[in-house]
Amino acid sequence: MSQSPTVVYIGGTGRTGSTTVDQLAGQLPGWFSAGEMGWFWQLAVGANGRCPCGRIVPECEVWSAVLARVVDGTSMGDDVASVAAHMTEARRTFHSVHLPAMVLPGFSRRRLGRMQSYLDTQRLLYDAIGEVTGARVIVDSAKEPHYAFLLRQGAGLDIRFVHLVRDPRAVGYSWGRRKQETGLEGDRVMESRGVLRTSAYYLVSNIAAELLWRRHRRQYCFVRYEDFVADPVGTLTSLARFAGDERDEATLPPPESDGGWGLNPAATHTAWGNPDRIGRTSLRIREDTAWRGGLPAWKAWLLTIINLPLVWRYGYPMRPSGRVAPAARSGRLRASSIGPSRQ
Ligand SMILES: [Zn+2]
Repeated sequence: MSQSPTVVYIGGTGRTGSTTVDQLAGQLPGWFSAGEMGWFWQLAVGANGRCPCGRIVPECEVWSAVLARVVDGTSMGDDVASVAAHMTEARRTFHSVHLPAMVLPGFSRRRLGRMQSYLDTQRLLYDAIGEVTGARVIVDSAKEPHYAFLLRQGAGLDIRFVHLVRDPRAVGYSWGRRKQETGLEGDRVMESRGVLRTSAYYLVSNIAAELLWRRHRRQYCFVRYEDFVADPVGTLTSLARFAGDERDEATLPPPESDGGWGLNPAATHTAWGNPDRIGRTSLRIREDTAWRGGLPAWKAWLLTIINLPLVWRYGYPMRPSGRVAPAARSGRLRASSIGPSRQ
């Protein structure tokens, strides 16, 4: 078997623009935008999720070839449906509610012992993606820091953790909106969350991301979504270097005349993530300011106060109406760095 691909894992909390970063990173030569692999078996495969190429994931040209390789190599089942069912069941044992315990000594070791067949099969999954697509780097935007940590500890994969954060007021606004889930068949609405639940996830996920990953200096880097929006080409070029891809061509071409990067839907296979990934023909990266006008003032202040330690740590303005100061344009992400101004 060829060498396993590097996994660039976009971690943190939800609604941070991770699917957009995932898909744009997938435009780098030799990179593949896989989507949220932590939900692959349950939703993309088990619930017949839609692939941007137009087929359901189990019937997609790329994913069906990937799935055939995984079924061949795993002891989790004899066909796609039984492997998906076993993997979904195993996945239930480490949801976000287990996250606080993950940082306790000994917990992850005990958990790893029970998760080994799951992790072995996930390793097969990433290897198969590399074999089918020829990609040397796979982008996974599953967010959960503990899932990536288990993969690192138990699957023997080279995981590069990109800690992606976004202003908590923008995150809170996004979670509060009701949005159609077009990635699944039928009339479904995406989960929405109130201010308190959004903040609990924001705090726990981001603090856990640092506790679990920041000490692995070579495998951790910090990115604010706002800085990515301000300089997508520079950010992704830096990400390529962070992922160990030193090739000169590992960079994005300049955007097209409309300011976006063209996507060929038929060749786009981001299996799970924000439903915006479906039907996109162009990736236009611009600041989303809807939250500034759409978020009630009391919610904005409540999000600010509850998340104040991270608002400060990540360099966001204390006043919700304040502007986000750009990070220093070093032209290179600093592994293990935190925020634009606070180390
Ligand atoms: Zn597809």
